[in-house]
Amino acid sequence: HQYLHGSDSDSSSSSSSSLPSILLAGPSSAGKTALLTLFEKRAGRRTTTTATDAIAGPSQTHTSQTPVSVELNAAQSSDEDKLKKFLLVDTPGHPKLRSTSLRHILPLDPKTGKPLPPNKAPNKIKGVVFMVDASTLAPSSPDSSLSQAATYLYDLLLALQHRYSRYSKGSKHPPTIPVLIAANKLDLFTALPATLVKKELEAELGRIRVSRSKGLLDSGVREDDVTGEKEEGDDWLGEYGSDRFEFKQMLEFDIEVEVVGGSVVGGEGPGVEGWWKWVVQRV
Ligand code: GDP
Repeated sequence: HQYLHGSDSDSSSSSSSSLPSILLAGPSSAGKTALLTLFEKRAGRRTTTTATDAIAGPSQTHTSQTPVSVELNAAQSSDEDKLKKFLLVDTPGHPKLRSTSLRHILPLDPKTGKPLPPNKAPNKIKGVVFMVDASTLAPSSPDSSLSQAATYLYDLLLALQHRYSRYSKGSKHPPTIPVLIAANKLDLFTALPATLVKKELEAELGRIRVSRSKGLLDSGVREDDVTGEKEEGDDWLGEYGSDRFEFKQMLEFDIEVEVVGGSVVGGEGPGVEGWWKWVVQRV
């Protein structure tokens, strides 16, 4: 592949580590790889820089679990100089590997294994695209992906919420990381429209919140598993004590959540324009 970068001495792979990044997360089969490939074809090139290099410093060892990053150009005009470059970082969707994506948001110091202090907090992440398969999201759908998707989303939003508290100093808060929920596969007739995807996810996140507060349900991997620092209410997502969970409760932590529908494949679908626009506005 002509765009593959081989060695660490390659200057462009080290320069890509200073690029703004968008994390791409979501459960398996949501369509992340398909999206990455499509974006790459349109506007990018693949780099060998691992996401951990790009965002959090020293890389971890497990190659098969290493996220893929693609350097993309967000064309502002036809003028080459005005191209904006950014990285799109694909993270594993498998439940056991989810800590990888949460680590980008709340990285550990490789030396001490403790959370990085606020002055070393990563600030290159400009947003998270969380992709779901809208065609299997209905609770009534056979093999519904709702519970899996919502569990992952809960942990992700909670990590962002913790980031906000951990890296805030007085009235100074860390740069915001907005979340785009990309409701994919809208070309399929079983797909829920974005408004319903939002509703179902909010309801399921609310259920998870109640279960976790009662200690009934636990997720696979969470960021506080590693640090052991835990306080009461730490697992509660959004407005504390509220009845229903709504995405707008995340605004209290400066986290904007938006749900936009689209499709990566299938000519009949709405395509990826809405997501691309969201990404380009944030890098
Ligand atoms: P990942 O596990 O999130 O990386 O998901 P993949 O990118 O591997 O996609 C899983 C499957 O969903 C593949 O068979 C894709 O072709 C399919 N897929 C992805 N996006 C769409 C879409 O917009 N519409 C339809 N119908 N299928 C899609």
